[in-house]
Amino acid sequence: MIATKSYAAYNAITPLKPYNFERRNVGEYDVHIEILYCGVCHSDLHQARNEWGESMYPMVPGHEIVGKVVSVGNKVTKFKMNDTAGVGVMIDSCRTCKNCKKNLEQYCIEGITGTYNGYERDGKTIAQGGYSTNIVVDEKYVLKISSTLNLKAVAPLLCAGITTYSPLKYAGVKKGMKVGVVGLGGLGHMGVKFAVSFGAEVTVLSTSANKEADAMQLGATKFVLTTDKAAMKKYDSYFDIILDAISANHDFTKYLNLLDLDGKLLVVGLPSEEPKVKPFSLIKNRRSVIGSMIGGIKETQEMLDYCTEKNIVSDVELINMQNINEAYERMLKGDVKYRFVIDIASLH
Ligand code: NAP
Ligand code: ZN
Ligand code: ZN
Repeated sequence: MIATKSYAAYNAITPLKPYNFERRNVGEYDVHIEILYCGVCHSDLHQARNEWGESMYPMVPGHEIVGKVVSVGNKVTKFKMNDTAGVGVMIDSCRTCKNCKKNLEQYCIEGITGTYNGYERDGKTIAQGGYSTNIVVDEKYVLKISSTLNLKAVAPLLCAGITTYSPLKYAGVKKGMKVGVVGLGGLGHMGVKFAVSFGAEVTVLSTSANKEADAMQLGATKFVLTTDKAAMKKYDSYFDIILDAISANHDFTKYLNLLDLDGKLLVVGLPSEEPKVKPFSLIKNRRSVIGSMIGGIKETQEMLDYCTEKNIVSDVELINMQNINEAYERMLKGDVKYRFVIDIASLH
């Protein structure tokens, strides 16, 4: 067994604290990664605080993991010692259902094996995430990362990156399309970068007036303060696509009204409450609401390779592990530009 240091949530209400546990020994298809950086996703906070229900404790969050391979099992072919590797939201799936066979493991009929807050495939071991010194994962669910990139800024691609890349690709975003991104946080800022790189005209729709300059810097050409009713009215039936990356409860209708003919509201944000949808706003312009969950391993690798080619990374603020609780509070206030990333060296 491999001794591992980490920070864990022990329950839904007290701050995360140090936690020592053991990873499984390296199996024949396993890759053992010494973690260098781990991004802080709002999903970590939702689950640590049991906002989606059924959280399992102690819970080591973290699913935006980048590190160095320190050993591999004897049947591993994709990785060798010292390679740079990444792990995202999913560490396994059934591998045999129709969705897994289509490289859409995130929609595995049995359900994915999450990186944390669930059982591993043996049904007994609690999977623990990347706020930790190392991780052991089957090579099929490990991503290759170019060591030439700024690794701390690459970590958020493993969740925020793929979660925005996948639906924008699915919706066929390209030059000439008008794309709105709602919620300029970790996911939202990656959504802006991808939509801009695909050639779309991008508008940021935000509750934070002070994010306008950043939106422009990220490549957006328009900014709408969503609390300004008159400003919102001007964009009635304007967009082809709106990517909704809001972490808190909100009304879908407000954003549906901004969609043009056949417009699509791509929902990736996961607040706990059920949103309101006004049917009249749906039938107008034949609008649709489409949900999307991360991306399959093949598409995640494609996204990472695309980012390497286009030099796309996340805008990050590096923190020490000991500052995670303060980072959660700042994330809740929207006070992060635009992703916290933990320097795992601070855990050793
Ligand atoms: P984040 O960095 O905290 O960003 C969320 C943004 O939502 C904020 O920056 C803010 O943007 C906006 N917002 C917050 N409260 C709001 C409110 N009351 N009304 C309107 N807008 C509000 O979070 P994140 O890490 O990007 O995650 C976003 C959501 O996606 C979370 O719910 C997360 O669980 C979910 N998620 C889903 C998947 C998936 O597979 N579908 C994967 C990862 C994460 P402005 O300041 O611009 O308004
Ligand atoms: Zn995430
Ligand atoms: Zn499956």
